[in-house]
Amino acid sequence: MEMASLNRQSTFKLTAADVIPKGKSKCKDDNEDLSFVCNTCNVAVCISCVTGSHKRHDLSKLRDSISRLKASNEVELYSKVQEATTNMKKIEEGIQAFDVKVERVVKAITEEGTHIKAMVDKCVGEMIASVKDQSRKERDKLTQKMAVTKVDLKAGSDLDKNLYELYKTRNDGKLLQSLQTLTDDIANLTIEPLTEYPDVHHTAKSVTDHDILQLFGTFNISGVRKGQTGHRENELQKPKRYGNVLCKIYSHDNVTSSSTV
Ligand SMILES: [Zn+2]
Ligand SMILES: [Zn+2]
Repeated sequence: MEMASLNRQSTFKLTAADVIPKGKSKCKDDNEDLSFVCNTCNVAVCISCVTGSHKRHDLSKLRDSISRLKASNEVELYSKVQEATTNMKKIEEGIQAFDVKVERVVKAITEEGTHIKAMVDKCVGEMIASVKDQSRKERDKLTQKMAVTKVDLKAGSDLDKNLYELYKTRNDGKLLQSLQTLTDDIANLTIEPLTEYPDVHHTAKSVTDHDILQLFGTFNISGVRKGQTGHRENELQKPKRYGNVLCKIYSHDNVTSSSTV
């Protein structure tokens, strides 16, 4: 990890000191050691400059300025590294918390789906029971009609037997009377007329993905603002160009999409 470099700073100081050349740089104007710093002009100056062109300017010893800068840089860098370390920890925790939440949402959607499927199964069962129950009533009516027609048929068959018997009888007044009675019986034999038959059919309904989606709750992902990562994100993604494009499309979709649409 990068943080390790901070711990190595003391070692770095030693090595740096060994490398620094012994000779001091000279003032171009006065050819003297640049031992001071003019804070007003932000430039290293020599003893002659101090009393000359930089007179009454805010001056300090070069050595002091350098150690002050080294110290303040160390403090600043340390605090930045600390901040980055803290942020890393927070981001890691944030990712973990987000993962847990995503899992929770996935579980909720799964449970909702299971519940809806169970409801659909129950509904199918009830519809089948209902169609069987209601059609049975209509079927029973037809069976009753068949029984009545059977009685009619029996009566007709009986009359037919009578008719045949009368053919074997002598032609007299009694036969005439019997024939007249038979005529009346035939007239009275009413055949139950056929009414319409029951019908049953199913009208399918075209169910779309959208309709199914309406049965479910919605989820919403509030995205991280792009500005928070800025150009660094692009730097990180630069090496894998193709992946970068895909990744962007994905992250864009991820942030803006929601099943409410
Ligand atoms: Zn000088
Ligand atoms: Zn100056």
